[in-house]
Parts: sequence; C-alpha cells; structure tokens
Amino acid sequence: MIQIEGLSFRYPGAKRDVIRELSLRIRQGSLFGLLGPNGSGKTTLISILTGLLPLLSGKIRIDGKALPSHLQEIQVGSALVPQEYAFYPRLSVIENLLFFGGVLAIPAHELRGRLTEALAVAGLESFESVRAEHLSGGLKRRLNLAIGLLNRPQLLFLDEPTVGIDPQSRHFILDAVKRINARGITVVYTTHYMEEAEMLCDEIGVLDDGRLLACGTQEQLLNNTQSRELTVTLTAAPTAQQSGILSTIPGLGIISRELRMAHCTETDLKRLMKLLAAEGLDICRLKYGYRNLEELFLQMTGRQLRN
Ligand code: ADP
Repeated sequence: MIQIEGLSFRYPGAKRDVIRELSLRIRQGSLFGLLGPNGSGKTTLISILTGLLPLLSGKIRIDGKALPSHLQEIQVGSALVPQEYAFYPRLSVIENLLFFGGVLAIPAHELRGRLTEALAVAGLESFESVRAEHLSGGLKRRLNLAIGLLNRPQLLFLDEPTVGIDPQSRHFILDAVKRINARGITVVYTTHYMEEAEMLCDEIGVLDDGRLLACGTQEQLLNNTQSRELTVTLTAAPTAQQSGILSTIPGLGIISRELRMAHCTETDLKRLMKLLAAEGLDICRLKYGYRNLEELFLQMTGRQLRN
C-alpha cells in the first residue's frame, strides 16, 4: 500500500509548487491509474515515489516503510519504467537485459530465468539479438518494460508507456500490464489517455495542476459527485407559462424541448420531476451524470483533459 499525505513539491528555482498538498492511498494489488493532462505533475509524483526526486514536504509510506529513510528497501521491491528510453541503443535486447541484470546484481543462477520471463512478458523473444536502436518505437517501449521487470518488482510504476506508439504495440503493452497486475503486482500507471485509464485501471486518481481532484473506482468517480450534468428532452416544448414555472429552478436552461443544467443536485432533479409531472410535460430522454471521465474532468476544471 502506498500512503501519501500532504505532499507538495517545487523544482529548485521555480516560482510555484507543481505538486500541491496531495494526499492519496493506493491499495496493494491495485492497477492504479494516475490520469491527468500533460504538465499536471504525474512524472514529478512518481519520481518522488521512486526516489528520483527528493521528498521536500509531506509524508510517504510504501508498504509501511517511510521515505526517504527506507528508500533502498523500497527500491528492492519496486521498479520504474520511465517515459524516455532507458537502455543502451548500441546494445542488443539481450545485451541490455544482461547489463541491467548485472546492475541489479541478480545472482548468476537466477539470471537466465529472469531474462526469459522478462522477454516473454514484453513479447521480445524473437528480438533478442536485435540492436535496441533498430527496434520500432513500440518495441523500444517493450524493452523498457522488460528491463523494469528484471528485479521481479512487487510494485511497478509505468510512466505513460504508450505515448506515440503504434496501435498494435499499445494493445500489447496494455495487455501485458493487465497480466502483470493479475499476478498480484501493484501497478501505478500514469496516462493522459482517458480511455486507457477507463479500460485498464481498477482505481483512478485524477490529477490537475498538481492537485488530486478526485480518486476512486470509475463508478465512484462518475457517480459520487454532489452535482451532475442533466439533460432532459421533452416530447413537446413547454409553453411560455410552463417555462416560467420551470425556470424557478436556478441554473436550468430551456431551449425548445431541451432542458439543461450543468450542476444539478439530486434535490434539483426531484423538484424538476415534480414540476414536469404537475405540468403534464412528458420526458422522451433523460441523461443525468457523466458518460465518461473526459466529461467529469471538463466539469471539474472547465478544460478538456487532452491538451
Ligand atoms: P506530467 O508528467 O503530468 O506531464 P510533469 O510532472 O512532467 O507533468 O510536470 C509538472 C510540472 O512541472 C510542469 O509544469 C513542468 O513544466 C514542471 N517541470 C517538470 N520538470 C521540471 C524541472 N526539471 N524543472 C522545473 N520544472 C519542471
């Protein structure tokens, strides 16, 4: 389990914090999606969690071990697959894996097994002897992943592993992440692709401008907000008098047969239903809530998730 409390971070010389008073819990075995637009602080956050950036304020515990004092212990059980390519382009796939196996001091009698396992999970068996620089973008990402798996981590951080790659490799990586998580490994997966978070993750934290806006299962995120977007289409447009009655609900907009409310509470909804019934206005379509995380993000921030 990862526990973060009141975390703030500012790069040296910068004017403002890029992580702001962030508190978050990620449970053991979760496939946790950290979803946010570019620049929202995803890489910074996982860099702090993996010890690449210092913990300046706030508290972090991973499996009960506090950062920074237990960093080395934490690193033994975890791995980071960074966004940028983290291998030697002039070495072949297997040479890279052997090199990083050496860096991790994997005992000789275990090395073969670990290499075979990492190559299989990343689907790189038939590329063993290909020089890394000659791999396609997607295969390079898969080599990054294979290197990350070498120390058999119980906690795996993946930083936007599918950015800019072909759909086939993207599909392969998403599938590999699911298989890795199914073995009980906790995965923290950062992305700005809403569909990936929705498809892949059992819990999602929505990050914007260094703040955690919401966190929970997709179901919770889409339904637990106090006010939601409402669109009602009536079978016929209300008369001027009926429109006047309906307009007593603050924030309700009426355009012909369509009624809209950007922030509608359940009390507002009940009141509207009563008024519609009393006026004999029939509903032909009603949408209450958010269809997806993109809509929720737009409502919370006034901006599109993708920028
Ligand atoms: P994300 O991973 O969500 O795209 P980042 O964590 O990379 O976001 O960046 C968060 C913010 O921190 C951005 O405003 C970015 O410009 C800033 N930032 C990132 N790295 C540095 C750095 N080394 N020095 C100063 N500012 C940085």
